[in-house]
Amino acid sequence: MSFITINNIQKSFDGQKVLKNMDLTIEKGEFITLLGPSGCGKSTLLRIAAGLVSADGGSIFIDGIDVTNVSPKERGVGMVFQSYALFPNMNVYENVAFGLKMKKIEKQHLDERVMNMIKLVGLDGKEKAYPHELSGGQQQRVALARSIVVEPKVLLLDEPLSALDAQIRKNLQKLLRDIQQRLGITMILVTHDQEEAMLVSDRIFLLNKGEIVQSGLPQDIYKHPATEFVARFIGNYNVLGKDEMTQLIGQDPGEGMMYAIRPEAFLLNERENTILLNAEVKDIAVLGSIVRYGLELNGISFSADLLQQSGVNLEINQKVRLFLPKEDVIPLT
Ligand code: ADP
Ligand code: MG
Repeated sequence: MSFITINNIQKSFDGQKVLKNMDLTIEKGEFITLLGPSGCGKSTLLRIAAGLVSADGGSIFIDGIDVTNVSPKERGVGMVFQSYALFPNMNVYENVAFGLKMKKIEKQHLDERVMNMIKLVGLDGKEKAYPHELSGGQQQRVALARSIVVEPKVLLLDEPLSALDAQIRKNLQKLLRDIQQRLGITMILVTHDQEEAMLVSDRIFLLNKGEIVQSGLPQDIYKHPATEFVARFIGNYNVLGKDEMTQLIGQDPGEGMMYAIRPEAFLLNERENTILLNAEVKDIAVLGSIVRYGLELNGISFSADLLQQSGVNLEINQKVRLFLPKEDVIPLT
């Protein structure tokens, strides 16, 4: 049996189905992400796993125990939210120690665990600081330390980094992944940010409208989107219907109605099994190490990413010869 089994969970609010027959299993020590657009049901599923919301049907097992009707406290589950929810009148040390004090852990052992945890999240030296003296990123580090120090069976994180600036968010994504690997904690992260999901997860469950639309390894989901929704959500795919795709590549794209092409699939040099595209540059966007070209061919617009170092220096309205590997035209359902 898997470490966590979510079995046929359903939930409606005001007659609206928010979760439809959710089935997922998670192994011990896995870092999984529930990814999807706002309103798709991610938080509801997480809150049901935590016991904060009750499901209309289905069951949840954690570590072999049916916890479906067990109170949040007795589930052995930790939770971190977007809002840090620290105790404002307690300093960093006291915030982190709080859960252990409740458990009546012996003083010296408690002190050691708290200090180790504060170090682990990179806050040594800040033990005496109060929440209002810390930045948002630092406060979230405290929230993380506080929920990990009590060694929950599973840590649930609901958009914990969404309120932070891009750079701080990147640092904390790395920290989160690092801590998870080092301690082997089972984690379920909720996010609407596909880059974040790709970066931190062992596996991703992609949700839309209360259903899991695709799950798997980050690179598999990225490389093999199953549906139009996934292709549009997960990257900067070119998504085209059959007629448009036929126009673009000058040949029948084969089985299917909709197709996707990754923007980085286009090559400057010919290879076996490639299709030549004589496109015209319409737009140029420099995105750091890559340049995203907006292109047009036979009235079809598409985008192609090329590395800065590729040596090409294209200008608007210039013609460019691109080669598209046939296998990179992905049929969608
Ligand atoms: P997400 O976290 O993916 O953004 P949520 O799980 O928060 O989505 O919400 C899913 C849907 O359920 C939304 O349409 C939301 O408005 C609705 N919803 C969530 N919680 C409640 C509630 N307590 N009462 C009524 N509707 C709710
Ligand atoms: Mg949410």
